[in-house]
Amino acid sequence: MKKIIVLAVAALVSFAAFAQPQVIAHRGFHATKGSCRNSIEALKQAQKLGLYGSECDINLTKDGVIVVAHGGMHPDKSAYRKGEDIPRLNIQKSTYEELKTIPLENGEIIPTLEEYLEQTKKSKKTKLIIEIKSHYTPAKETEIVQKTVEMVAKYGLNDMVEYIAFRPWVCFELKRLAPEGTPIAYLNGDYDPTYVKGMGISGIDYKYDVLKKKPKWIKSCQKRGLTVNVWTVNDEEKLRWVIEQGVDYITTDDPVLATKLIKEMCK
Ligand code: MG
Repeated sequence: MKKIIVLAVAALVSFAAFAQPQVIAHRGFHATKGSCRNSIEALKQAQKLGLYGSECDINLTKDGVIVVAHGGMHPDKSAYRKGEDIPRLNIQKSTYEELKTIPLENGEIIPTLEEYLEQTKKSKKTKLIIEIKSHYTPAKETEIVQKTVEMVAKYGLNDMVEYIAFRPWVCFELKRLAPEGTPIAYLNGDYDPTYVKGMGISGIDYKYDVLKKKPKWIKSCQKRGLTVNVWTVNDEEKLRWVIEQGVDYITTDDPVLATKLIKEMCK
């Protein structure tokens, strides 16, 4: 009898197992020695883990080079004392040559998108999730979208690249210029599933807090054929919650923990 109960419970648990979300390393797998956010090394480490995706941020420099970087670039921080204003170079208002003089935290030179795509080519598995940052004018945004889409095609990576953006304009330009069926997800968290469906893009990529407040949006998106990605989920309790909610993708700074929990919870 006991055995039957144990088997019945095991069967129930297996039925209750959750669908398996894919893991995306936020700005690459940067929490390793010798790595840092948005570095080539962080992309390499994400590939080494065999993750579904590695996210990166891109900006257009003043002289039209696409670089992988999130915000302003700091010159050597160690040269400044606490409390002093650390000067920052605004990426979109600096030239590539100026930015090259400032090494990343791991000593790398700021990567260009071309260098990132070279590295993306080396893995058959890990997709590059490119976040196109907001720029000062819609014209600049169109320029970076156009150049990026052309470059990705030139590298033969149409099937290995997905896009995310905060600006609806960037999403629309991606929809217009990227090959049909290219995944494009909206980041800003303010549009409901019906509206996003109407935008003609493939999904949402919303902040954890947004989905926590509006958990119904998850199923509502999926019912409409939209994918659901969530950022940036790092601690165990939150990871467990998003797995239980059945999101399609989890963007995290801790891909090792996310992978472990998924293995445990999604049989
Ligand atoms: Mg990003």
